[in-house]
Amino acid sequence: MFNLAIYEEDDEELFHRNFEQAEKEGKVKVYKIDGTPTIFPVANYSLKPMNCPEAALVFKSKTRSYQELPIRLSEFGILHRRELSGVLGGLLRVRQFTIDDAHIFVRPDQIQQEISQLLKLLIKVYKSLGFNPKFYLATKPDKALGDAQTWKEAEEDLEKALKNANVQFDLKPKDGAFYGPKIDIHINDSQDRDWQLATIQLDFQIPQKMDIAYIDKDGNKKRPVMIHRGLTGSLERFIGILTEHFQGAFPLWLSPIQTIVLPISDKFLDYAGKVKNSLSEAGIRTDLDQRSETLQAKIRDATLQKIPYILVVGEKEEKNQNVAVRTRSGQDLKNMTLKDITDKIIKEIATKS
Ligand SMILES: [Zn+2]
Repeated sequence: MFNLAIYEEDDEELFHRNFEQAEKEGKVKVYKIDGTPTIFPVANYSLKPMNCPEAALVFKSKTRSYQELPIRLSEFGILHRRELSGVLGGLLRVRQFTIDDAHIFVRPDQIQQEISQLLKLLIKVYKSLGFNPKFYLATKPDKALGDAQTWKEAEEDLEKALKNANVQFDLKPKDGAFYGPKIDIHINDSQDRDWQLATIQLDFQIPQKMDIAYIDKDGNKKRPVMIHRGLTGSLERFIGILTEHFQGAFPLWLSPIQTIVLPISDKFLDYAGKVKNSLSEAGIRTDLDQRSETLQAKIRDATLQKIPYILVVGEKEEKNQNVAVRTRSGQDLKNMTLKDITDKIIKEIATKS
C-alpha cells in the first residue's frame, strides 16, 4: 500500500521520489482538480479529494423519475489536497478542509429556475454577513468537453438566471470548468481585498461518465444535469476570511462567545454563576471568568477577546439582582436587570444587528 504518511512530508524531493515509485507500481494516479494536483491512491482506501462522484452514486442508487427532480444532496464533506508546503498559510490554504457542498440534479428545463433560487439563497447568506457579492459568468474554455450546442444553451441559461435575479455581472471569458460553464462569486473584505468564495457550476460530464439517468414522461431514459454549488467554499478558508474581515470583532450573532460574566471577587461567584446559567438557558453563548484576577485584568482580557457584552457583578448587582453592562468598545451601558439585558441581546441576535 502506498505510504500515505508522505502527505505529512515537507521534503518535496522525497515526496516526488516516493510518488514516482508508487506511480510506476500502479499504486497511485494523479488528477488535477481546479489546477491542483490531487493524488488518488489506487487501492481500496484513500483520502477523499472531492464529493461529486459519491453524490452521483447516491442519485444512481435507485431508479429516478422526472417528477422527483430536482434532487438536492448537500454535504459538509472533508476533502484533501496535496498543496505544496510553500503555499500553505493559516486557515486560508490547508491540506484537509471541509466544504459546504451540494450537488443538485435537474432536468435541462429546470436549470434556469434552480440557478435563480440558488442566486437568491446566496445573496441572502452574503448580505447577512454584510458582503456585497460580485458575480462573474465564466464561459467555455478552449479545452472543453461536450458539444458546442449544449455549452451555448448552458451559458444562456446561466445568463438568464443572473438577469432574472437582477444582479449585475461581468464575464470571465473562457474561464469555465472543462465540464461546463459556471458562475463565480467574489467579495471585497473590509481591507478591500478581493476573494472568490462561491461557485455555481453546471456539469454535463459527470452524468454522462457515471451513466446516470432519470425516466422521463415518455418513459425514456434521459440524462440529468448536475449542478455543483458551494456557498462558502472551504469553511476553514471562509472562517479565515471572516476573521480578517471583522478583525476578530465578529457581529454579536456570529461571535463564538456573546457575553462574559465577570465577578468582582470570588465572593460573587455564586451570583455570577446564576447570571451565566440564566443567559445560557436563553440560548446566549455565555462564558464566566472564574479566575482570581483583578477586575481590571478580566475586563482587559474580555476586551482583547472582543466579546461583545461584558457583564460585571458585585455586591450592588447581587443585591439589586442586576448586572453592570459594558461593550467591547468600552461603552458603559450602566446597570440593567437580567431580563432587560437578555431581551436586548436576543433581539440583536434575531435581527443580526
Ligand atoms: Zn462537485
